Parts: sequence; structure tokens; C-alpha cells
Amino acid sequence: MQTKIVREGACKVHVYEGKITKKDPVFFNPEMKFNRDISVACLKVARKMSSETWVICDLLSGCGIRGIRYMLEVPDVEFALLNDANPSAFEIIKKNVGLNKAGRAEVENMEGNVLLSMHSNKFNFVDIDPFGSSVPFLDGAARAVRHGGFLGVTGTDLGPLAGTYPKTCLRRYGAKSLKTDVIHETGVRILTGYIIRALSKYDKGFLPLLCFCSRHYYRIFGEVKKSRGCADKAVAGLGYLLYCCKCGRRKYSRFNNERCECGAEFDYAGPLYTGGLFDEDFVQMIEPMDSRMEKFVGVLREESKVDGMLYDIHEICSLNKVETVRRDCLVSCLREKDYSASGSVFGGHTVRTDAPLSVVVECVGKK
Ligand SMILES: [Zn+2]
Repeated sequence: MQTKIVREGACKVHVYEGKITKKDPVFFNPEMKFNRDISVACLKVARKMSSETWVICDLLSGCGIRGIRYMLEVPDVEFALLNDANPSAFEIIKKNVGLNKAGRAEVENMEGNVLLSMHSNKFNFVDIDPFGSSVPFLDGAARAVRHGGFLGVTGTDLGPLAGTYPKTCLRRYGAKSLKTDVIHETGVRILTGYIIRALSKYDKGFLPLLCFCSRHYYRIFGEVKKSRGCADKAVAGLGYLLYCCKCGRRKYSRFNNERCECGAEFDYAGPLYTGGLFDEDFVQMIEPMDSRMEKFVGVLREESKVDGMLYDIHEICSLNKVETVRRDCLVSCLREKDYSASGSVFGGHTVRTDAPLSVVVECVGKK
């Protein structure tokens, strides 16, 4: 197969030329650059939070770009294991490790779960970046990541998680998905809930630090604590999203059989994670590396300060038969009424606020 050299971040890598398909292994996906940029920035912050010698694992390494970037751009990563089950990927990763002189990286050619099973409580960071669902690797990752370590998980199976294929979601994640105006937050919360359950089996707690979504994937980054107390606390954060299609009211609950104040019955999604998706201190420390990331981090910092529900402005305006309003106008209105409010990384027309629905409706201008 023909290769070409691609530069990204601090590294340059050989990549196979040709189209990315589900059948063929994903060697290099330029659309994932933003995902990798944010991951590098997160790992820089995470590294500062630990005084241990750091060993990281890029489990489904493809052409190796992700793991090599971690080695070159995150200070004090002592050792990295770059793995891919595909023999062609294995060859090109070795070539790319050599090209970038990333000498502290070792390359393996194993099925992901076999590798994870051989390294119980070994890694300070495990990155799972699959073409599809991360579910097959989460149990192994739960065993392989050590106390005080971190987990980075990508999910590209948005069809099941965002409510298009509810049967697949139930089968794969043990959770009911639901099409709402905030489907991607719901999908991220179902995936986060699954990660929490995977880790809690091993008395490990998962603390979400940051998440985001794009058109093609979800990305979740969080800390792992080996402690029964932390695991119990994480599990206590599981519940349901209750959602009223009639009036747009939404809330999180431990139960899924409540009735909405408007009289209609709530539909629900879950079980899913109902707690905070962003750690305010963690996101404050993230250093943007370009203008796109600067914009993203700006929204993230604001959103991390708001403990509230997410609303799609178009949907709330449409339900209340009013013309759509600008996000900054709605945020200002909510803040003038002494509520917390911000934009959201879940979309340019979404708002997060702790205001009740009646106040949101008041601000969008219902007569
Ligand atoms: Zn209702």
C-alpha cells in the first residue's frame, strides 16, 4: 500500500493512502485532529496532577499518531505502549515511532483486550479510540487503569447512543436511549454511565472531567480512583433523564415513572450518568493550542460553572410558538434573573441553565 507523510501537532507520520471504511482499518482520520488536540491538552493537565512515573496506553493506535503526539507533546510521559491488532498498522506504527524518534514507546500487535488483560492496574492513562463502539474494551480498560489514572474514551456509535437505534443501545449499553432536543448530551451520559458501571465492578470510581461531541463522535475524559467509596459515589450518580415531549420540561431522577407538571407522562432515557460532566478546576487549566480550541475552551469554562439542564433554543421556541432568540440574549436574560446560564459545547444553539423551564420560556418571550 502507498503511504504519504502527514504532519500534525509536533509529529509527522506515514499514513496509508486511500479511503477510510469500516472494513479497512482506520490508519489515519484527519477529522479526528480536534479530538487529538483536546486529548493532548487534557493529558498535559492530567500529567501535572500525578507525581508517579507515567505509563500510558494507546490501545487502538492505527498509524500511531495519537500515542506519538502524547509522547512528543505531553511532558514527562516516561513510557507509552502503542498497540494495534492489525499487522499493517503494527508495521506503520513501528515506522512512525522511528521517524519521530519516540524511543520510549513500545509497539504491540495484539487484540486490545488481550493486551489490557496482561497489564492489570498498570497504566496511568488508557486511550480507547475505536472505529465504532468502545464497549468491547471498557471492561479490560477498567482493569488496566490504575488508581489515580485517567481514561480517554471515544465513541463513534452515535446511531444507538443518540436514539436512532434504540434496540442496539439497550443491547450494547443496557440503557434506553431517547430522541430529545439534547440527544447528544443524553448519548454522552449513557456512555459515561456505562463507563462508571464497568469500573465500579472493580471497586473503581470514574470521575468525569470533560466531554464533548462532534458530528461523528463523543469523547469523554475522566479520572479513575480505586476506592469503594468513590465507586459507590459514582454509581449513586446514575439515574434517568425524564423528558416531557409536550412542554419540554426535563429533569434527572432516580426513578423513571414520574408524571410531568403539565399533566403529560414523562418519557425517559437511561440508566445514565446524571452528575456534572465538567470539572471546573480541570477545564480552567486546559491551554488552547489554536483559535478553534480557544473558542471551544472558552465555552467549556463557562459551561463548567453551571449546574443545570441543557435546552435547545430552537426547540423551546418552537414548542412555545415564538420566534427563535439569539443564544447570548437568552443567556443574558437568565443571568439578569439571577440564574446561572451559559452556552454549551453540545451545540451553538443550546443553553445550560439552572433556571426552571418557566423562566426559560419567559426569556424566549412567550406571551
Ligand atoms: Zn410537560
